[in-house]
Amino acid sequence: MKQKIALAIHGGAGTILKSKMTAALEKAYKEALRLSLQKGYDVLTAGGTSLDAVETAVRELEDCPLYNAGKGAVFTADGRNEMDASIMSGKDLAAGAIAGVTCLKNPVTAARAVMEKSDHVMLIGSGAEAFARLHGIEMVAPDYYFTRERWEALLKIREEDPDRTDLDHGSSKSYRKKKKEEKFGTVGAVALDREGNLAAATSTGGMTNKKWGRVGDSPVIGAGTYANRLCAVSCTGWGEYFLRLCVAKTVADLMEYKGYSLLRAANEAILKKLPEIGGDGGLVAVDAQGAVALPFNTEGMYRGYVKNNGKIVVDIYA
Ligand code: ASP
Repeated sequence: MKQKIALAIHGGAGTILKSKMTAALEKAYKEALRLSLQKGYDVLTAGGTSLDAVETAVRELEDCPLYNAGKGAVFTADGRNEMDASIMSGKDLAAGAIAGVTCLKNPVTAARAVMEKSDHVMLIGSGAEAFARLHGIEMVAPDYYFTRERWEALLKIREEDPDRTDLDHGSSKSYRKKKKEEKFGTVGAVALDREGNLAAATSTGGMTNKKWGRVGDSPVIGAGTYANRLCAVSCTGWGEYFLRLCVAKTVADLMEYKGYSLLRAANEAILKKLPEIGGDGGLVAVDAQGAVALPFNTEGMYRGYVKNNGKIVVDIYA
């Protein structure tokens, strides 16, 4: 029997309403998802590894200004772009991550270098950038990340409430409502290759107006990204909640220790545990049999998948 392959991706979850989207923008978002899936699929059908496929798919979205990662990263409170990314290989639990980097064109590639070329799992800030430079990872000037839409989003938050940061998600109900209206962003991919190996990768610019070196779940192995022999998971959403629940590893643990199917485990984490503590978001996951799950508890999630037959499926709304 032909070995199964599968690839699933996301481009962030949140309040994504059809009423607020133009036909042209929707088309552009979907085209970018399709391209990412096609490139990752080509890697898998050519016999490439799941690691190569997720890195390829994520790089494609990092290069697209529409998504909050790489080129389209959101702005911090001081008007910079600080990116986080991670990658994990399911067959040997190898993992790499970087956080708070400001000049790497493709943060996911730097995360992979951490995994493959260092003894560490996570590097941050200027140290991570020095490491990346040493290993020939492509660097860009800070203005590479400038996009009008992201800049205006920062100006809008500053105007509405200069003290408001996306870290301050405390107890205030009105604040919380505002937060809930935010659209999250982040990109991620999970894949199963012909050898039966799984991999996951996630990359993000984090949250608009973040301060104090805030880092969310995306670069944290077990929270935003996880892969083992059973499944590969990449998350998106309000990072603080995904960190508290170690969402990605929870999906893997529900499968391993409770014998849940991928879909049941993913639904339990996103549709039950996450809302129980007030969290928003979603994930994409694939198991060793090639099943995919793409649950989310927000109004929408940019998402898609492709399996052996090459039929690319993309969707945005619930
Ligand atoms: N999880 C990301 C973070 O908290 C954001 C997102 O997925 O939209 O940084």
